[in-house]
Amino acid sequence: MIPIVLVVEDEPAIQELLAINLKHAGFRVVQAGTAEEAESLIRAVLPDLVLLDWMLPGQSGAALLKRLRADRRSRELLTARLHEEDKLQGLEAGADDYVTKPFSPRELIARIRAVLRRRAPHVAGEAVEVGNIMLNPATHRVMVNGQPVELGPTEFRLLFFFMTHVERVHTRAQLLDEVWGDHIFIEERTVDVHIRRLRAALEASGQHERIETVRGTGYRFSGG
Ligand code: CA
Repeated sequence: MIPIVLVVEDEPAIQELLAINLKHAGFRVVQAGTAEEAESLIRAVLPDLVLLDWMLPGQSGAALLKRLRADRRSRELLTARLHEEDKLQGLEAGADDYVTKPFSPRELIARIRAVLRRRAPHVAGEAVEVGNIMLNPATHRVMVNGQPVELGPTEFRLLFFFMTHVERVHTRAQLLDEVWGDHIFIEERTVDVHIRRLRAALEASGQHERIETVRGTGYRFSGG
């Protein structure tokens, strides 16, 4: 899984410089010149991290960050602020990190990697392990008790999501949002179909019991 970084920067030359360096470092990059553009991109492709210029024409970076934090889908989105040194006001506006201009591309990439590792190790491409299940997003492999398990792409994403969000109850609508992305045309019972397939794939190892049905609500993945 390649992390997607959204670059929000109104100066074309800086936006391009950021995009080139990030692509070179192996990230997928989407670019926006305004907060409004950024918002519609966030709806279309939920990025893993937003690199946000603080001084934007129209809606400011601060205002955009506030709106992102207020929306359930983007609430936990990782953000790094980018701004002039003399405008630095600490991290009180709620970003996960900040980088001042002028920036060194090397340092910027290192900082982005550090934020991803610290806050979202699964996005940084590191393997996740729950009990006897080991899932490696980089190789797309799932091992249970050391044996490979074959999963369809949706079941893989579903398991990945469960393993990185254990013990929480997820409604079908939330799962559609998080695992399927924009889901306007998908019915909620589709979730049940893929849960059934995932359980079947894990059944031989007994690990299917981790997927608990929470009556009237949705599903929970047990991490214990
Ligand atoms: Ca700017």
